[in-house]
Amino acid sequence: MRNKVIAGNWKMNKDVHQTEDLINGLKNALDFELKNVTVVVCPPFTSLETAVRLIKGTPMLLGAQNMYFEDEGAFTGEVSAKMLQAVGCQYVILGHSERRQLFRETDDFINKKVKKALAAGIIPIVCVGETLEEREKNITHQIVSSQVKGVLKDVSASDTERVIIAYEPVWAIGTGRNATPQQAEEVHLLIRELISVLYGPATAERLIIQYGGSVKPDNAGDLLAQPDIDGALVGGACLKADSFAAIIKAAIL
Ligand code: PEP
Repeated sequence: MRNKVIAGNWKMNKDVHQTEDLINGLKNALDFELKNVTVVVCPPFTSLETAVRLIKGTPMLLGAQNMYFEDEGAFTGEVSAKMLQAVGCQYVILGHSERRQLFRETDDFINKKVKKALAAGIIPIVCVGETLEEREKNITHQIVSSQVKGVLKDVSASDTERVIIAYEPVWAIGTGRNATPQQAEEVHLLIRELISVLYGPATAERLIIQYGGSVKPDNAGDLLAQPDIDGALVGGACLKADSFAAIIKAAIL
């Protein structure tokens, strides 16, 4: 049985002071046993150090929202996997659709970061997902399969087991319009079957596949009850302690 991983993607929200408030709020709200659930908070870079200090001694783990694939050097504005590791990050979100769309990140570019994160011992949460136009053209399966293959190029089976894939249909992100549990499950199953073909059934069985896209306290339970949905990548609803805690609660068996 796979654990559920609930990760909060704060995006470009919360300065250091607001970070303190939110983490303290989460500490109060998470007054229940997490059992099968891993909780990851992914604040902006400027809040990582504050967050890591505040989550010490709690079950919450730290993630970043991006990184670059080089170790160091003349890459103004970038941070490396080693820097994330040194600050205490155990996870990093890679290839979010906002980075693909606004910053033109490609599967090839994301793949370089995935390999670097794994080499540094950081678990990459790698996002894939189709646009509305692609769904309407009935090419969701092709798009998602090609993204999964692209971001995992030259990643070994044992490393793939450490990767988390987040299926995030672009039309569901920040729109309030979530995929139905059936729509999401269909794509999660497709991803698992693809991993089985590429890496074998044991790797596929262990792979954590999160759903992301307008996950809220009132739809989390139905989504997370699907057999191939192993957690959620949460945007808007992770910015308030109560709603993030309610989603976490919905993942507990
Ligand atoms: C996200 O940013 O990854 C996301 C899924 O956002 P939201 O939950 O707001 O749709």
